[in-house]
Amino acid sequence: MDFELTEPEQRFRDRLRQWLQANLPPGWGTTLFEPVDLYAKVAFLKDWSRKLYAAGYAGLSWPKEYGGAGATLMEQVIFNEEVARFKAPTPYNGIALGMVGPTLIEVGTEAQKQRYLAKMLTCEEIWCQGYSEPGSGSDLASLQTHAIQDGDEFVISGQKVWTSYAHDAAFCFLLARTDTSVPKHKGLSCFIVDMHSPEITIRPLKQITGESEFNEVFFDNVRVPRTHLVGELHNGWMVGIGLLMHERATTSILGQANVQVMMQELIALARQQGRHQEPIIRQRLAQLYIESEAMKYYGYRCLTRRLRGLPPGPEGSAHRLALTRLVQRLQELAMELEGPYAQLLHGSPWAVQDGVWQFSFLRSRSATIAGGTAEIQLNIIGERVLGLPRG
Ligand SMILES: Cc1cc2nc3c(=O)[nH]c(=O)nc-3n(C[C@H](O)[C@H](O)[C@H](O)COP(=O)(O)OP(=O)(O)OC[C@H]3O[C@@H](n4cnc5c(N)ncnc54)[C@H](O)[C@@H]3O)c2cc1C
Repeated sequence: MDFELTEPEQRFRDRLRQWLQANLPPGWGTTLFEPVDLYAKVAFLKDWSRKLYAAGYAGLSWPKEYGGAGATLMEQVIFNEEVARFKAPTPYNGIALGMVGPTLIEVGTEAQKQRYLAKMLTCEEIWCQGYSEPGSGSDLASLQTHAIQDGDEFVISGQKVWTSYAHDAAFCFLLARTDTSVPKHKGLSCFIVDMHSPEITIRPLKQITGESEFNEVFFDNVRVPRTHLVGELHNGWMVGIGLLMHERATTSILGQANVQVMMQELIALARQQGRHQEPIIRQRLAQLYIESEAMKYYGYRCLTRRLRGLPPGPEGSAHRLALTRLVQRLQELAMELEGPYAQLLHGSPWAVQDGVWQFSFLRSRSATIAGGTAEIQLNIIGERVLGLPRG
């Protein structure tokens, strides 16, 4: 990988820096939007996403004909790094931007691309992802929600769980069983489901952070036109896994930039307390720093693969696993440094922002579960990277 930015890339970065400086809302980064203010936070993030879109910074690497900016993947990476560096809000509608959109660009029909992609970028239509079920998380292919063909429609019934943003979503990218007579991986299909259908019930679930970002979703004979099928009938496993590969690649590229910033803040926290002088704290900080640098270069290695036109591969699992575990250890050290103040949301003398470390510590627990647990990533690395026999 060439670590130097080309001249056009440098110009892109400089323009973006100027734009962020000029457009970041006053006071951003000084107040934690607390769980009670979740709706205000969402309204703010949608507004911010629209500003990004108007300035040509949304859907950077998506084709122009679908509302994207037609920029290079490298420019997308520069964008992520600068957003992390400025601690600017990330664009809202992450499931659409990071997963569903790229999947539709790859395998959607022309009509689907024209209909859905641009409205993802403007946040006019929020998307959720309906994969996990009460009995099917890691073993996703065993899912039971079924879609039965009835003329030109499919009738969908079943239950999904942990469905992030379902309460705010216009559409769900749903994985459902369409054939029960074949091995479990072969009888699945992907659908676009209108979340305003009256046959859908959504129940929020409370998270450890106090927010209710994910939900239980019940489908009771929801009718979906055949035109809402994504990819071929019964080929949903390949389409659905392709989407997860995008998820892992997106999380890694974004996560890596955030870890560098988090590391600097952790060092600042230790300095602020004078604890950076303590040998054990120094060693732990140094170890985390070494790992965060290693993550940066491993991330660039994964990126090089993408820049060469290859799809995100299973090595993304190794990066994601190491990165998510690193984030959790960073957060744990922050809590240790805060000492008894770690229990307070307000009033810690060490906090740059009230409750930020506490919130991100609690939030980080989900990093090794969402999008495939750490154990499942280990299985993928064992089987697909190291070529070990299936366990
Ligand atoms: C913040 C958050 C947001 C989420 N958002 C969404 C969403 O929008 N849409 C969606 O569909 N899902 C979502 N999920 C669900 C997520 O994908 C699942 O939680 C995850 O896939 C694990 O499934 P599970 O919870 O059913 O756990 P299980 O699969 O029941 O696993 C339980 C434990 O057993 C271990 N285990 C299971 N199988 C194996 C194996 N073969 N080898 C070794 N260990 C194993 C797991 O690692 C885990 O520790 C979200 C989860 C979180 C935390």
